[in-house]
Amino acid sequence: MFIKNPFKKGNKLYSILHLKCPKCQQGNLFTYKNAYNLNKLDKMPMTCPVCGEDFYRETGFYYGAMMISHATTTLIAVAVHLTVFHFYGWEIAPNIFSLLFILITLFPLIFRSSRAIWINCFVTYDPAVNKISSSK
Ligand SMILES: [Zn+2]
Repeated sequence: MFIKNPFKKGNKLYSILHLKCPKCQQGNLFTYKNAYNLNKLDKMPMTCPVCGEDFYRETGFYYGAMMISHATTTLIAVAVHLTVFHFYGWEIAPNIFSLLFILITLFPLIFRSSRAIWINCFVTYDPAVNKISSSK
């Protein structure tokens, strides 16, 4: 049985993990590479620099990404709680402080990946775009 590698170009997972344009998977979704530069965390070009795909499809488009972020944060919270519960039981302090530390540390990554997942819900990969842009 042939299973397509999800980490190769042409797959949505590639676009999400590399934070690339969902249509051409070449242009960067975010203007600045460093997610931990909090002043520039959310800076995205209006359109893809390679294929011209509109990254701001409508006003408030990325409000939907908050639902992805919420789900991700919930999954992380459950995982952290189960891990801490294993070592400390129902103690409040270890639970809250480890959860806060992990969520604050991961916030920029969750923020950006949520936006990438959200735009990938609406835009599909188009290999023809790459042929056009590479022949220029
Ligand atoms: Zn593109």
